Amino acid sequence: MATKFDAIVIGTGQAGPSLAVRLADTGMKVAIIERKRFGGTCVNNGCIPTKTLIASARAAHVARRAGDYGVTIRSPIAINMKKVKARKDAVVRQSSDGLQKWLRNTQNLTVIKGHARFADAHRVRVDDELLEADKFFINVGARASIPTFRGIDQVSYLDNSTMMAVEFLPEHLIVIGGSYVGLEFAQMYRRFGSEVTVVERGQRLCKREDEDVSENVQTILEGEGIKIRLNADCIGFEKRDARVAVQVECTRGDKIVIGSHTLLAVGRVPNTNDLGVEKAGIEVDKRGYIQVDDQLRTNVPGIYALGDCNGRGAFTHTSYNDYEIVAANLLDGDHRRVSDRITAYALYIDPPLGRAGMTEAEVRKSGRKALIAKLPMTQVGRARERGETDGFMKILVDAETKKILGASLLGIECDEVIHSILDVMYANAPYTVIQRAMHIHPTVTELIPTMLGELNPLE
Ligand SMILES: Cc1cc2nc3c(=O)[nH]c(=O)nc-3n(C[C@H](O)[C@H](O)[C@H](O)COP(=O)(O)OP(=O)(O)OC[C@H]3O[C@@H](n4cnc5c(N)ncnc54)[C@H](O)[C@@H]3O)c2cc1C
Repeated sequence: MATKFDAIVIGTGQAGPSLAVRLADTGMKVAIIERKRFGGTCVNNGCIPTKTLIASARAAHVARRAGDYGVTIRSPIAINMKKVKARKDAVVRQSSDGLQKWLRNTQNLTVIKGHARFADAHRVRVDDELLEADKFFINVGARASIPTFRGIDQVSYLDNSTMMAVEFLPEHLIVIGGSYVGLEFAQMYRRFGSEVTVVERGQRLCKREDEDVSENVQTILEGEGIKIRLNADCIGFEKRDARVAVQVECTRGDKIVIGSHTLLAVGRVPNTNDLGVEKAGIEVDKRGYIQVDDQLRTNVPGIYALGDCNGRGAFTHTSYNDYEIVAANLLDGDHRRVSDRITAYALYIDPPLGRAGMTEAEVRKSGRKALIAKLPMTQVGRARERGETDGFMKILVDAETKKILGASLLGIECDEVIHSILDVMYANAPYTVIQRAMHIHPTVTELIPTMLGELNPLE
């Protein structure tokens, strides 16, 4: 006999908990199932722990640069990795425990620990228990992809989850993958004091970004002593006593890099391989992403997919926005759509990259008439005062409609500054609205109107 619910949420990522509580608050009988730790990737192995570790790494970086600011530190800087990890664990625990308490204290909501697998389109099995519902909301997330690199089975390696248990300083960390996750760890460990090499298969770092962004990111990281090996098109691994040798076929430099530890950061795969999607008849693409429409409905009536597992976003804010879209459509009669949202994210190296809308390359490809402005961070008073002038800000505007098409802001505070642009894009207002705004001095954002006053045709 199956236990009957009105709705079952699978996974406690960034969409599931809020949706489960919202549904339960309407009086529905709801269950939420979690196989590991409450809060999923963001809370336990992603955003929160990495940004907490990055804060420790930045403290070390600023302390090392103290002399630049006229501050004398009399003994050498030392990093206590056990304390760094303990601080991270405390921040994570607070979020995860808080979430668990919230769920367990919600009326009409049953929290079930275990791995859920569909038995058919109306029932899931968790261990020996069969649960039935009219509606299912899948929020199972993704995990690190481990490609079949040559020799990978001969060596031990770290991924973003196992990195969370590290409480020692790797002597030489080799990071495979020069994109968002890999670069955050690379700079963090360099600042903790490790030797760091980034091995990237492509011709440049963060290949989805414009070339000038990739080049600047590389300059910033190399400036801190991180070695970067691009065009590594035949990556292989070999054990060398207690060390790991990574083969890289690069255009210049040694063919082998030998390190003490290696971190794989080469993309993510959805957690749909062990969910029984085939039993429920849920359509997935060849990489395992659940196929959804603009309201996040799968092909099976009553089953929805939210967050990283639907391939429509790979961020906490896209997953949470998925929750808002599903709740709006189901409960509020508000027909919100995935296609209403504007691309927005940050790369949390220091200084960060804040991104909104189209890249310059995408604008060029679209063939439309556009205007562009670019401003180096050396022209930003706030950056000069802080002694952190790396990066630049770039914005693109439609020449006819005057609407902002996109922006790439690489510089101090740019993960925050980008929102001044993003909000005007959401308001569907012309760029002249920000250009005429009076901003506060001395901030980074005050230079956005100045930059917009220097727009030129995109040649
Ligand atoms: C290192 C790193 C740093 C990141 N930094 C950022 C950042 O700064 N900003 C940002 O926006 N995003 C960041 N992300 C991405 C972000 O973490 C994810 O996009 C976000 O967590 C959304 O995930 P989700 O809601 O899809 O599910 P997840 O958070 O992945 O949660 C899914 C949950 O489902 C559970 N589950 C899976 N299968 C089953 C099953 N069959 N039965 C029961 N439970 C199951 C899992 O245990 C997990 O708890 C980062 C990711 C990584 C890896």
